[in-house]
Amino acid sequence: ILSMSKILVTGGAGYIGSHTVVDLLDNGFEVVSVDNFDNSSQEALDGIERITGKKIKNYQVDICDLDALREIFREHNILASIHFAAYKSVGESVADPLLYYHNNLAGMVNLLKCHAEFGIKHLIFSSSCSVYGNTDVLPVTEDTPWSEAESPYGRTKQICEHMIREYAATQPDQSFVLLRYFNPAGAHESIEIGEAAQNKATNLVPVITEVAIGERPELLVFGDDYPTRDGSCIRDFIHIMDLAHAHTLALQFLIAGKNPNQSEVFNLGTGKGTSVLEAVKAFEKVSDQLLNYRIAPRRSGDVVSVYADYQKAKELLGWNPERTVEEIMDTAWKWQQKVST
Ligand code: NAD
Repeated sequence: ILSMSKILVTGGAGYIGSHTVVDLLDNGFEVVSVDNFDNSSQEALDGIERITGKKIKNYQVDICDLDALREIFREHNILASIHFAAYKSVGESVADPLLYYHNNLAGMVNLLKCHAEFGIKHLIFSSSCSVYGNTDVLPVTEDTPWSEAESPYGRTKQICEHMIREYAATQPDQSFVLLRYFNPAGAHESIEIGEAAQNKATNLVPVITEVAIGERPELLVFGDDYPTRDGSCIRDFIHIMDLAHAHTLALQFLIAGKNPNQSEVFNLGTGKGTSVLEAVKAFEKVSDQLLNYRIAPRRSGDVVSVYADYQKAKELLGWNPERTVEEIMDTAWKWQQKVST
């Protein structure tokens, strides 16, 4: 079955998409990508080829264009889709909510329409820990109730999850995995691909490496008076290749029909919270340099502390995060040095 059918990856040139494509190819899957390069470029696909020796077919198409998306499903025998293509900046979504509702929701609707029309068996969706909002239940399990989304971005993830479940109820032959990522960071060990966003970085790790390389003057640590062990916010950083591998496992799980429920949700994090200041220290250790940072006032909309209980992914997918925060910082720093020279 694998030799005939392909996996459609939306957003295959993006950060998580490109690393996942490498893991899929390494595990014998054939991949077709659709990415309009809104936040990525051909360079990521070239990097994938240098790592795997395989050339990836990418359609430079906007998935909000239903006819163009349909054409791809017509051309290939697609077994499953992995849906990464979306906008992801929390701040930008607050500034321009309609941009986010349009791209993230219309893209999801179109993909599901194609799944219905072409009878596609499986879907894996990129959700986020932001669906939980500001929760005080820690660690977060898949059953932790959702709070109000902190941003339009977070709300698009909540809506997409609802949309998938409601669609699933009409498609008893199809199955779904919803992956709630915590804080993906780092790069492939080869440093051929990494986080290469066209838009300005907003996540902590790329901001740290940009400060270190001199592309930003300093890191602002928003708040050191939170009720945490050192006063800074706590996040759950997950190495990008550990995260990527979870997609391969989820795909194998769906194909083998091992899912107890038609739709299964998994948290993907390490289960260990790392504070912003601990992340800075880990960077300083692996890079052997001090980072220029300054404590700034708390930033509104920031969740104080969030980390995952990933027991379910461990039990049902056999997934285990293997890489440390130091390995995240080490690969992120090597990647930064490579792209800045
Ligand atoms: P990314 O921006 O690097 O990748 C998304 C890719 O999708 C980009 O290459 C972009 O060009 C493409 N794209 C966007 N809209 C498109 C459209 N309409 N048509 C075709 N292509 C389109 O982001 P990422 O970090 O790889 O995130 C992938 C997914 O994971 C997103 O859905 C994001 O919301 C989700 N996620 C990311 C994080 C994170 O911290 N990076 C955390 C939780 C969830």
